Amino acid sequence: MSEWNKLIPKPNSTFMRVKCPKCGNEQLIFSHASNTVTCNVCSALLGEPTGGKADLKGDVQAVLE
Ligand SMILES: [Zn+2]
Repeated sequence: MSEWNKLIPKPNSTFMRVKCPKCGNEQLIFSHASNTVTCNVCSALLGEPTGGKADLKGDVQAVLE
C-alpha cells in the first residue's frame, strides 16, 4: 500500500498577515480560507474562497508558516 501514500498532497496552507486596503488594519487570514474574509475593523472584503488558495484583496505583509 506504499503507492497510495504518494497520492496524499503535502499540506502547504499558511496564515498570512494581510493589510486592509481601506483602513490599514492588519489581520491574519488563512491562505486556503473556505469562507469570505472581511476586515475586523471596517468590514471591507479581504479575501474570497476559490476552492484552493483564497483570493486576497489586501497587501500581504507577512506569511507565517
Ligand atoms: Zn479595514
